[in-house]
Amino acid sequence: MSEIRGYAVHAAGAQLLPYKFDPGELNAHEVEVKISHCGICHSDVHLINNDWGISKYPFIPGHEIVGTIVAAGDEVRNLKAGDRVGVGWQADSCGICEWCRQGDDQLCAQAQPTCVGRNGGFAERVRVNSRFAIPLPEGLESRTAAPLLCAGVTVYTPLRNYGVRPSSRVGVIGIGGLGHIGIQFAKAFGAEVTAFSSSKNKEEEAIELGAHQFVNTRDTGALKKVAGSYDLLLSTANADQDWVAYIHALRPNGVLCMVGAPPKAMQLQIQPLISGQRTVAGSSIGSPRDLYEMLDIAARHKIKAVTEPFAMAKANEAVARVQKNQVRYRAVLAN
Ligand SMILES: [Zn+2]
Ligand SMILES: [Zn+2]
Repeated sequence: MSEIRGYAVHAAGAQLLPYKFDPGELNAHEVEVKISHCGICHSDVHLINNDWGISKYPFIPGHEIVGTIVAAGDEVRNLKAGDRVGVGWQADSCGICEWCRQGDDQLCAQAQPTCVGRNGGFAERVRVNSRFAIPLPEGLESRTAAPLLCAGVTVYTPLRNYGVRPSSRVGVIGIGGLGHIGIQFAKAFGAEVTAFSSSKNKEEEAIELGAHQFVNTRDTGALKKVAGSYDLLLSTANADQDWVAYIHALRPNGVLCMVGAPPKAMQLQIQPLISGQRTVAGSSIGSPRDLYEMLDIAARHKIKAVTEPFAMAKANEAVARVQKNQVRYRAVLAN
């Protein structure tokens, strides 16, 4: 196989520069994917800036990938050249630890992110373990499906794991890249959905996406009014929130599940957790099983990301818009 060209970051916070590397021999269990689209997640920005201290430079960011298989290793049985697949945050896991054996590969201690210590999707091609290249159902369009591979599965998995059903009342906190997909999945589960946002001008779009109500979080009285209302609050927000008010917004046995990571430590009152048997939880991406299910449901319920398209060569421009929170709702690069 020939060199792979893409756009790499060489130092924390630097611009993306054209970059090429020799991927070497294709491993027996790997596939090589010719990339058509790649979404830009806030995690890419965190990796570019080394906010988590795990970035390894130079690297090509990008982990919301859709493309077509162009090569499959000798031991790959589930995929062949020509298959259209999606790749998300995870590119590999050990396959034999207790978490991998249970189908929770995202919890594997040897889990390999697609663009940490490897090169990701702001490129022509990418390589991953074939278990993490998920066939895309026919009904999904590549551009609007790409963000489902990280943003989509991140909001889908907690809705599934916390047993959301038609009787459920679900709130989605933060209406951005994750939240706008969260509204659509919560609706598909049959729940009554409330969108929480500090941007009043997102109300109309939130309702169009399937929310039944909108709460403007700049209005503290509004949060008090919904006390005792929700079975699940899914927080996609990256900014600090009035968590005490959100705990009070839960019904008994309700769960506040965090998928966004605000900067400050959380201040909680314990009494409402005890008396209402409420839970504060976190959820990571999702497993390959979750990705298969999520894509199938997205195809059947016509769930798609609202995207701002950019040419791959405009990756710097797109990243700058993501960094400034200007994108509605997901930037997607196209080759
Ligand atoms: Zn992501
Ligand atoms: Zn493992």
